[in-house]
Amino acid sequence: MKYIFVTGGVVSSLGKGLAAASIGTLLEHRGLKVQLQKFDPYLNVDPGTMSPYQHGEVYVLDDGAETDLDLGHYERFTHSNLSQLNSLSSGQIFETVIQNERDGKYLGATVQFIPHVTDEIKSRLHLSTERNPDTDVIITEIGGTVGDIEGHLFLEALRQFALDVGNENVCFIHVTLLPMLKAAGEIKTKPTQQSVAKLREIGIQPDIIICRTEHDLDDDNRSKIAMFCNVKKQNVVAFRDVKDTIYECPIDLRRDKVDRLVCDVLGLESDTPDLSKWQSFVDRLVKPSQKTTIAVVGKYIELNDAYKSIYESLTIAGAEHDTAINLIKIDAEEIETLGAEAVIGKVSGILIPGGFGERGTEGKILAAQYARENKIPYFGICLGMQIATIEFARNVCSLTGANSTEFDKETPHPVISLQEEQQGITTKGASMRLGSCESLLYPSSRSHELYDRADSIHERHRHRYEFNPAYREQLEAAGLIIASISKKEGLVEIIELADHPFFIAAQFHPEFKSKPNSPHPIFSGFIKASLEHS
Ligand code: GLN
Repeated sequence: MKYIFVTGGVVSSLGKGLAAASIGTLLEHRGLKVQLQKFDPYLNVDPGTMSPYQHGEVYVLDDGAETDLDLGHYERFTHSNLSQLNSLSSGQIFETVIQNERDGKYLGATVQFIPHVTDEIKSRLHLSTERNPDTDVIITEIGGTVGDIEGHLFLEALRQFALDVGNENVCFIHVTLLPMLKAAGEIKTKPTQQSVAKLREIGIQPDIIICRTEHDLDDDNRSKIAMFCNVKKQNVVAFRDVKDTIYECPIDLRRDKVDRLVCDVLGLESDTPDLSKWQSFVDRLVKPSQKTTIAVVGKYIELNDAYKSIYESLTIAGAEHDTAINLIKIDAEEIETLGAEAVIGKVSGILIPGGFGERGTEGKILAAQYARENKIPYFGICLGMQIATIEFARNVCSLTGANSTEFDKETPHPVISLQEEQQGITTKGASMRLGSCESLLYPSSRSHELYDRADSIHERHRHRYEFNPAYREQLEAAGLIIASISKKEGLVEIIELADHPFFIAAQFHPEFKSKPNSPHPIFSGFIKASLEHS
C-alpha cells in the first residue's frame, strides 16, 4: 500500500480538499485504485452536531457517517468507496483512548499523548489499509493548518507512520498559499518557506509543494521555493484559481504533472492519464448553450458551503442538459415579508433543501404553494418534502394548522411527526435516521420513470421526523401521490403531484449521489422540467 498525506500551510480554505480529490481523479485516470479520507483535528466526534455556519454542509455516507463536506468532493471526484473509517476527528481519537483507559487496556501505564494518542491515529491508518486490500493508494487529507496546536499530534503520528511503513511508501504533499503583493507587484514565497520550516521542525519533509496562486508560477519562484523548502524544483506545482468550475482543478494540476510526480515519489508504475471524458464534461459546464433559473429557498443561503452538494448536483445535472444554472439563493424569511410572487415569480424551478428548526418554514410553505398552484417545477429535499406535505395538507385537504411536530408540538394535524423509535431520544450526536436504506418505487409514478423503472433504490437519509402514516390515506385521496416507501418500515420516501409538470419531493438526500457525467435522476428530471418551463 502507498500513502499520500496532504497538509495545508499559511491559511485555511486553500482548497486542500479539492487538491486531494483532484490528485485522486488523476491517479484513477492512470488506472490506480484510490481511497480518500480526512483527519480533522477538532474535538467534535463528528460534524453532525455543528451548525452549517460553523462547518458548512454535513455530508452523509452510505453507512450513515456524518462527515466533512470534503468527503463530498472525494466521492464526486473519484470512485473511492467511503465509510465511517474515512472520517476521523480528534474527538473520536480521545473518546477511544479514554475508553481504553477506563477498560484497563493500558493498565499500569501513564496514558500520554505520545505514544497512546498517536498510536490510536496510526491504528486508524492501519485499519483503513486492512479494509481496503485492493487499493493502490490511500490519500489522507489533514484538516487545519500546519502550526495549529491541535493538529500537532496528527502530524507527529504521520511522521512515525512513515517510519513504520517505510518512507518510500509515503508521499507528503504540502498545499500552501503564494500571495501576490499588489503594491510590490511580486509573488511572495516567505509564508510558504516558513510553513514548510514548521513541518520540518516536526520531522516531516514534504516531497511535493502545491502552491495556490492567482497567477502563474514563474521559474525564479519555483527555484526559490525548491531551494528554501528542500524539494526538487519540478516538485513545486502551481495550483491556479480555476476560472469557471472546480472540476477544472484536476486539469490544472495536470499541467505540472502532479500525478506523475506522485507516482515517481512512490515508485508506482502507471499509465499516462486520458482525461478526455473529464475534459468534455468540463467543456459542457463551461460553454452551455441554454440557461435556466433555479431558486433555492433555504435558511443558510448566505453561506455557499451550507448546500454544497445540492449546488454541485444542480451544476452536474445542468451539464447533462447542456444548460447553465442561474442559481438564485433565497432566504425563506424574505418570502414571508414580500410574498412568493415578488421573490420567486420569475424562476423556472424551485428547490427547497434540508434544514432544521422553525425559522423560515412559513416562507418555505408559501414557496411550495406557489410552485404547486402556478405549476412551476418543484423539488423538495428532506425538509423540502416535509414542507410540501404540510402545504398540501393545509391548502388542499383543508387541515387548518397542519404542521410538523418539530415546529409546533400542539398542532391539531401532525402530518409530519416523530416515529416511535425517535421518541425519547435526547442525545444529539448520530441519533437521527442516518445513511442509506432501500426503498421501493411504485410503478406508474414519475419517479419510477426517472429511475429508469428500477423497482428498488438506495438513498441516504439524515432526519428525525417522518411523514405521519396516519394521514396517508386522506392525503392520497386528495391527490397526493406516494411514489416510494422504505422497504423495511414502509415509511414514505417520495411524494409527487399528478396534475403538475414536475412536483417531486424526497425524504432522503439525493444530492449525495451525483457525480460528473452521472447526475442524480431526480436532479436531471428537475432541470429538464425547468428548461421546458422556461
Ligand atoms: N428537520 C427535519 C427532520 O429532522 C428535516 C431534516 C433535514 O432536512 N435534513 O426530520
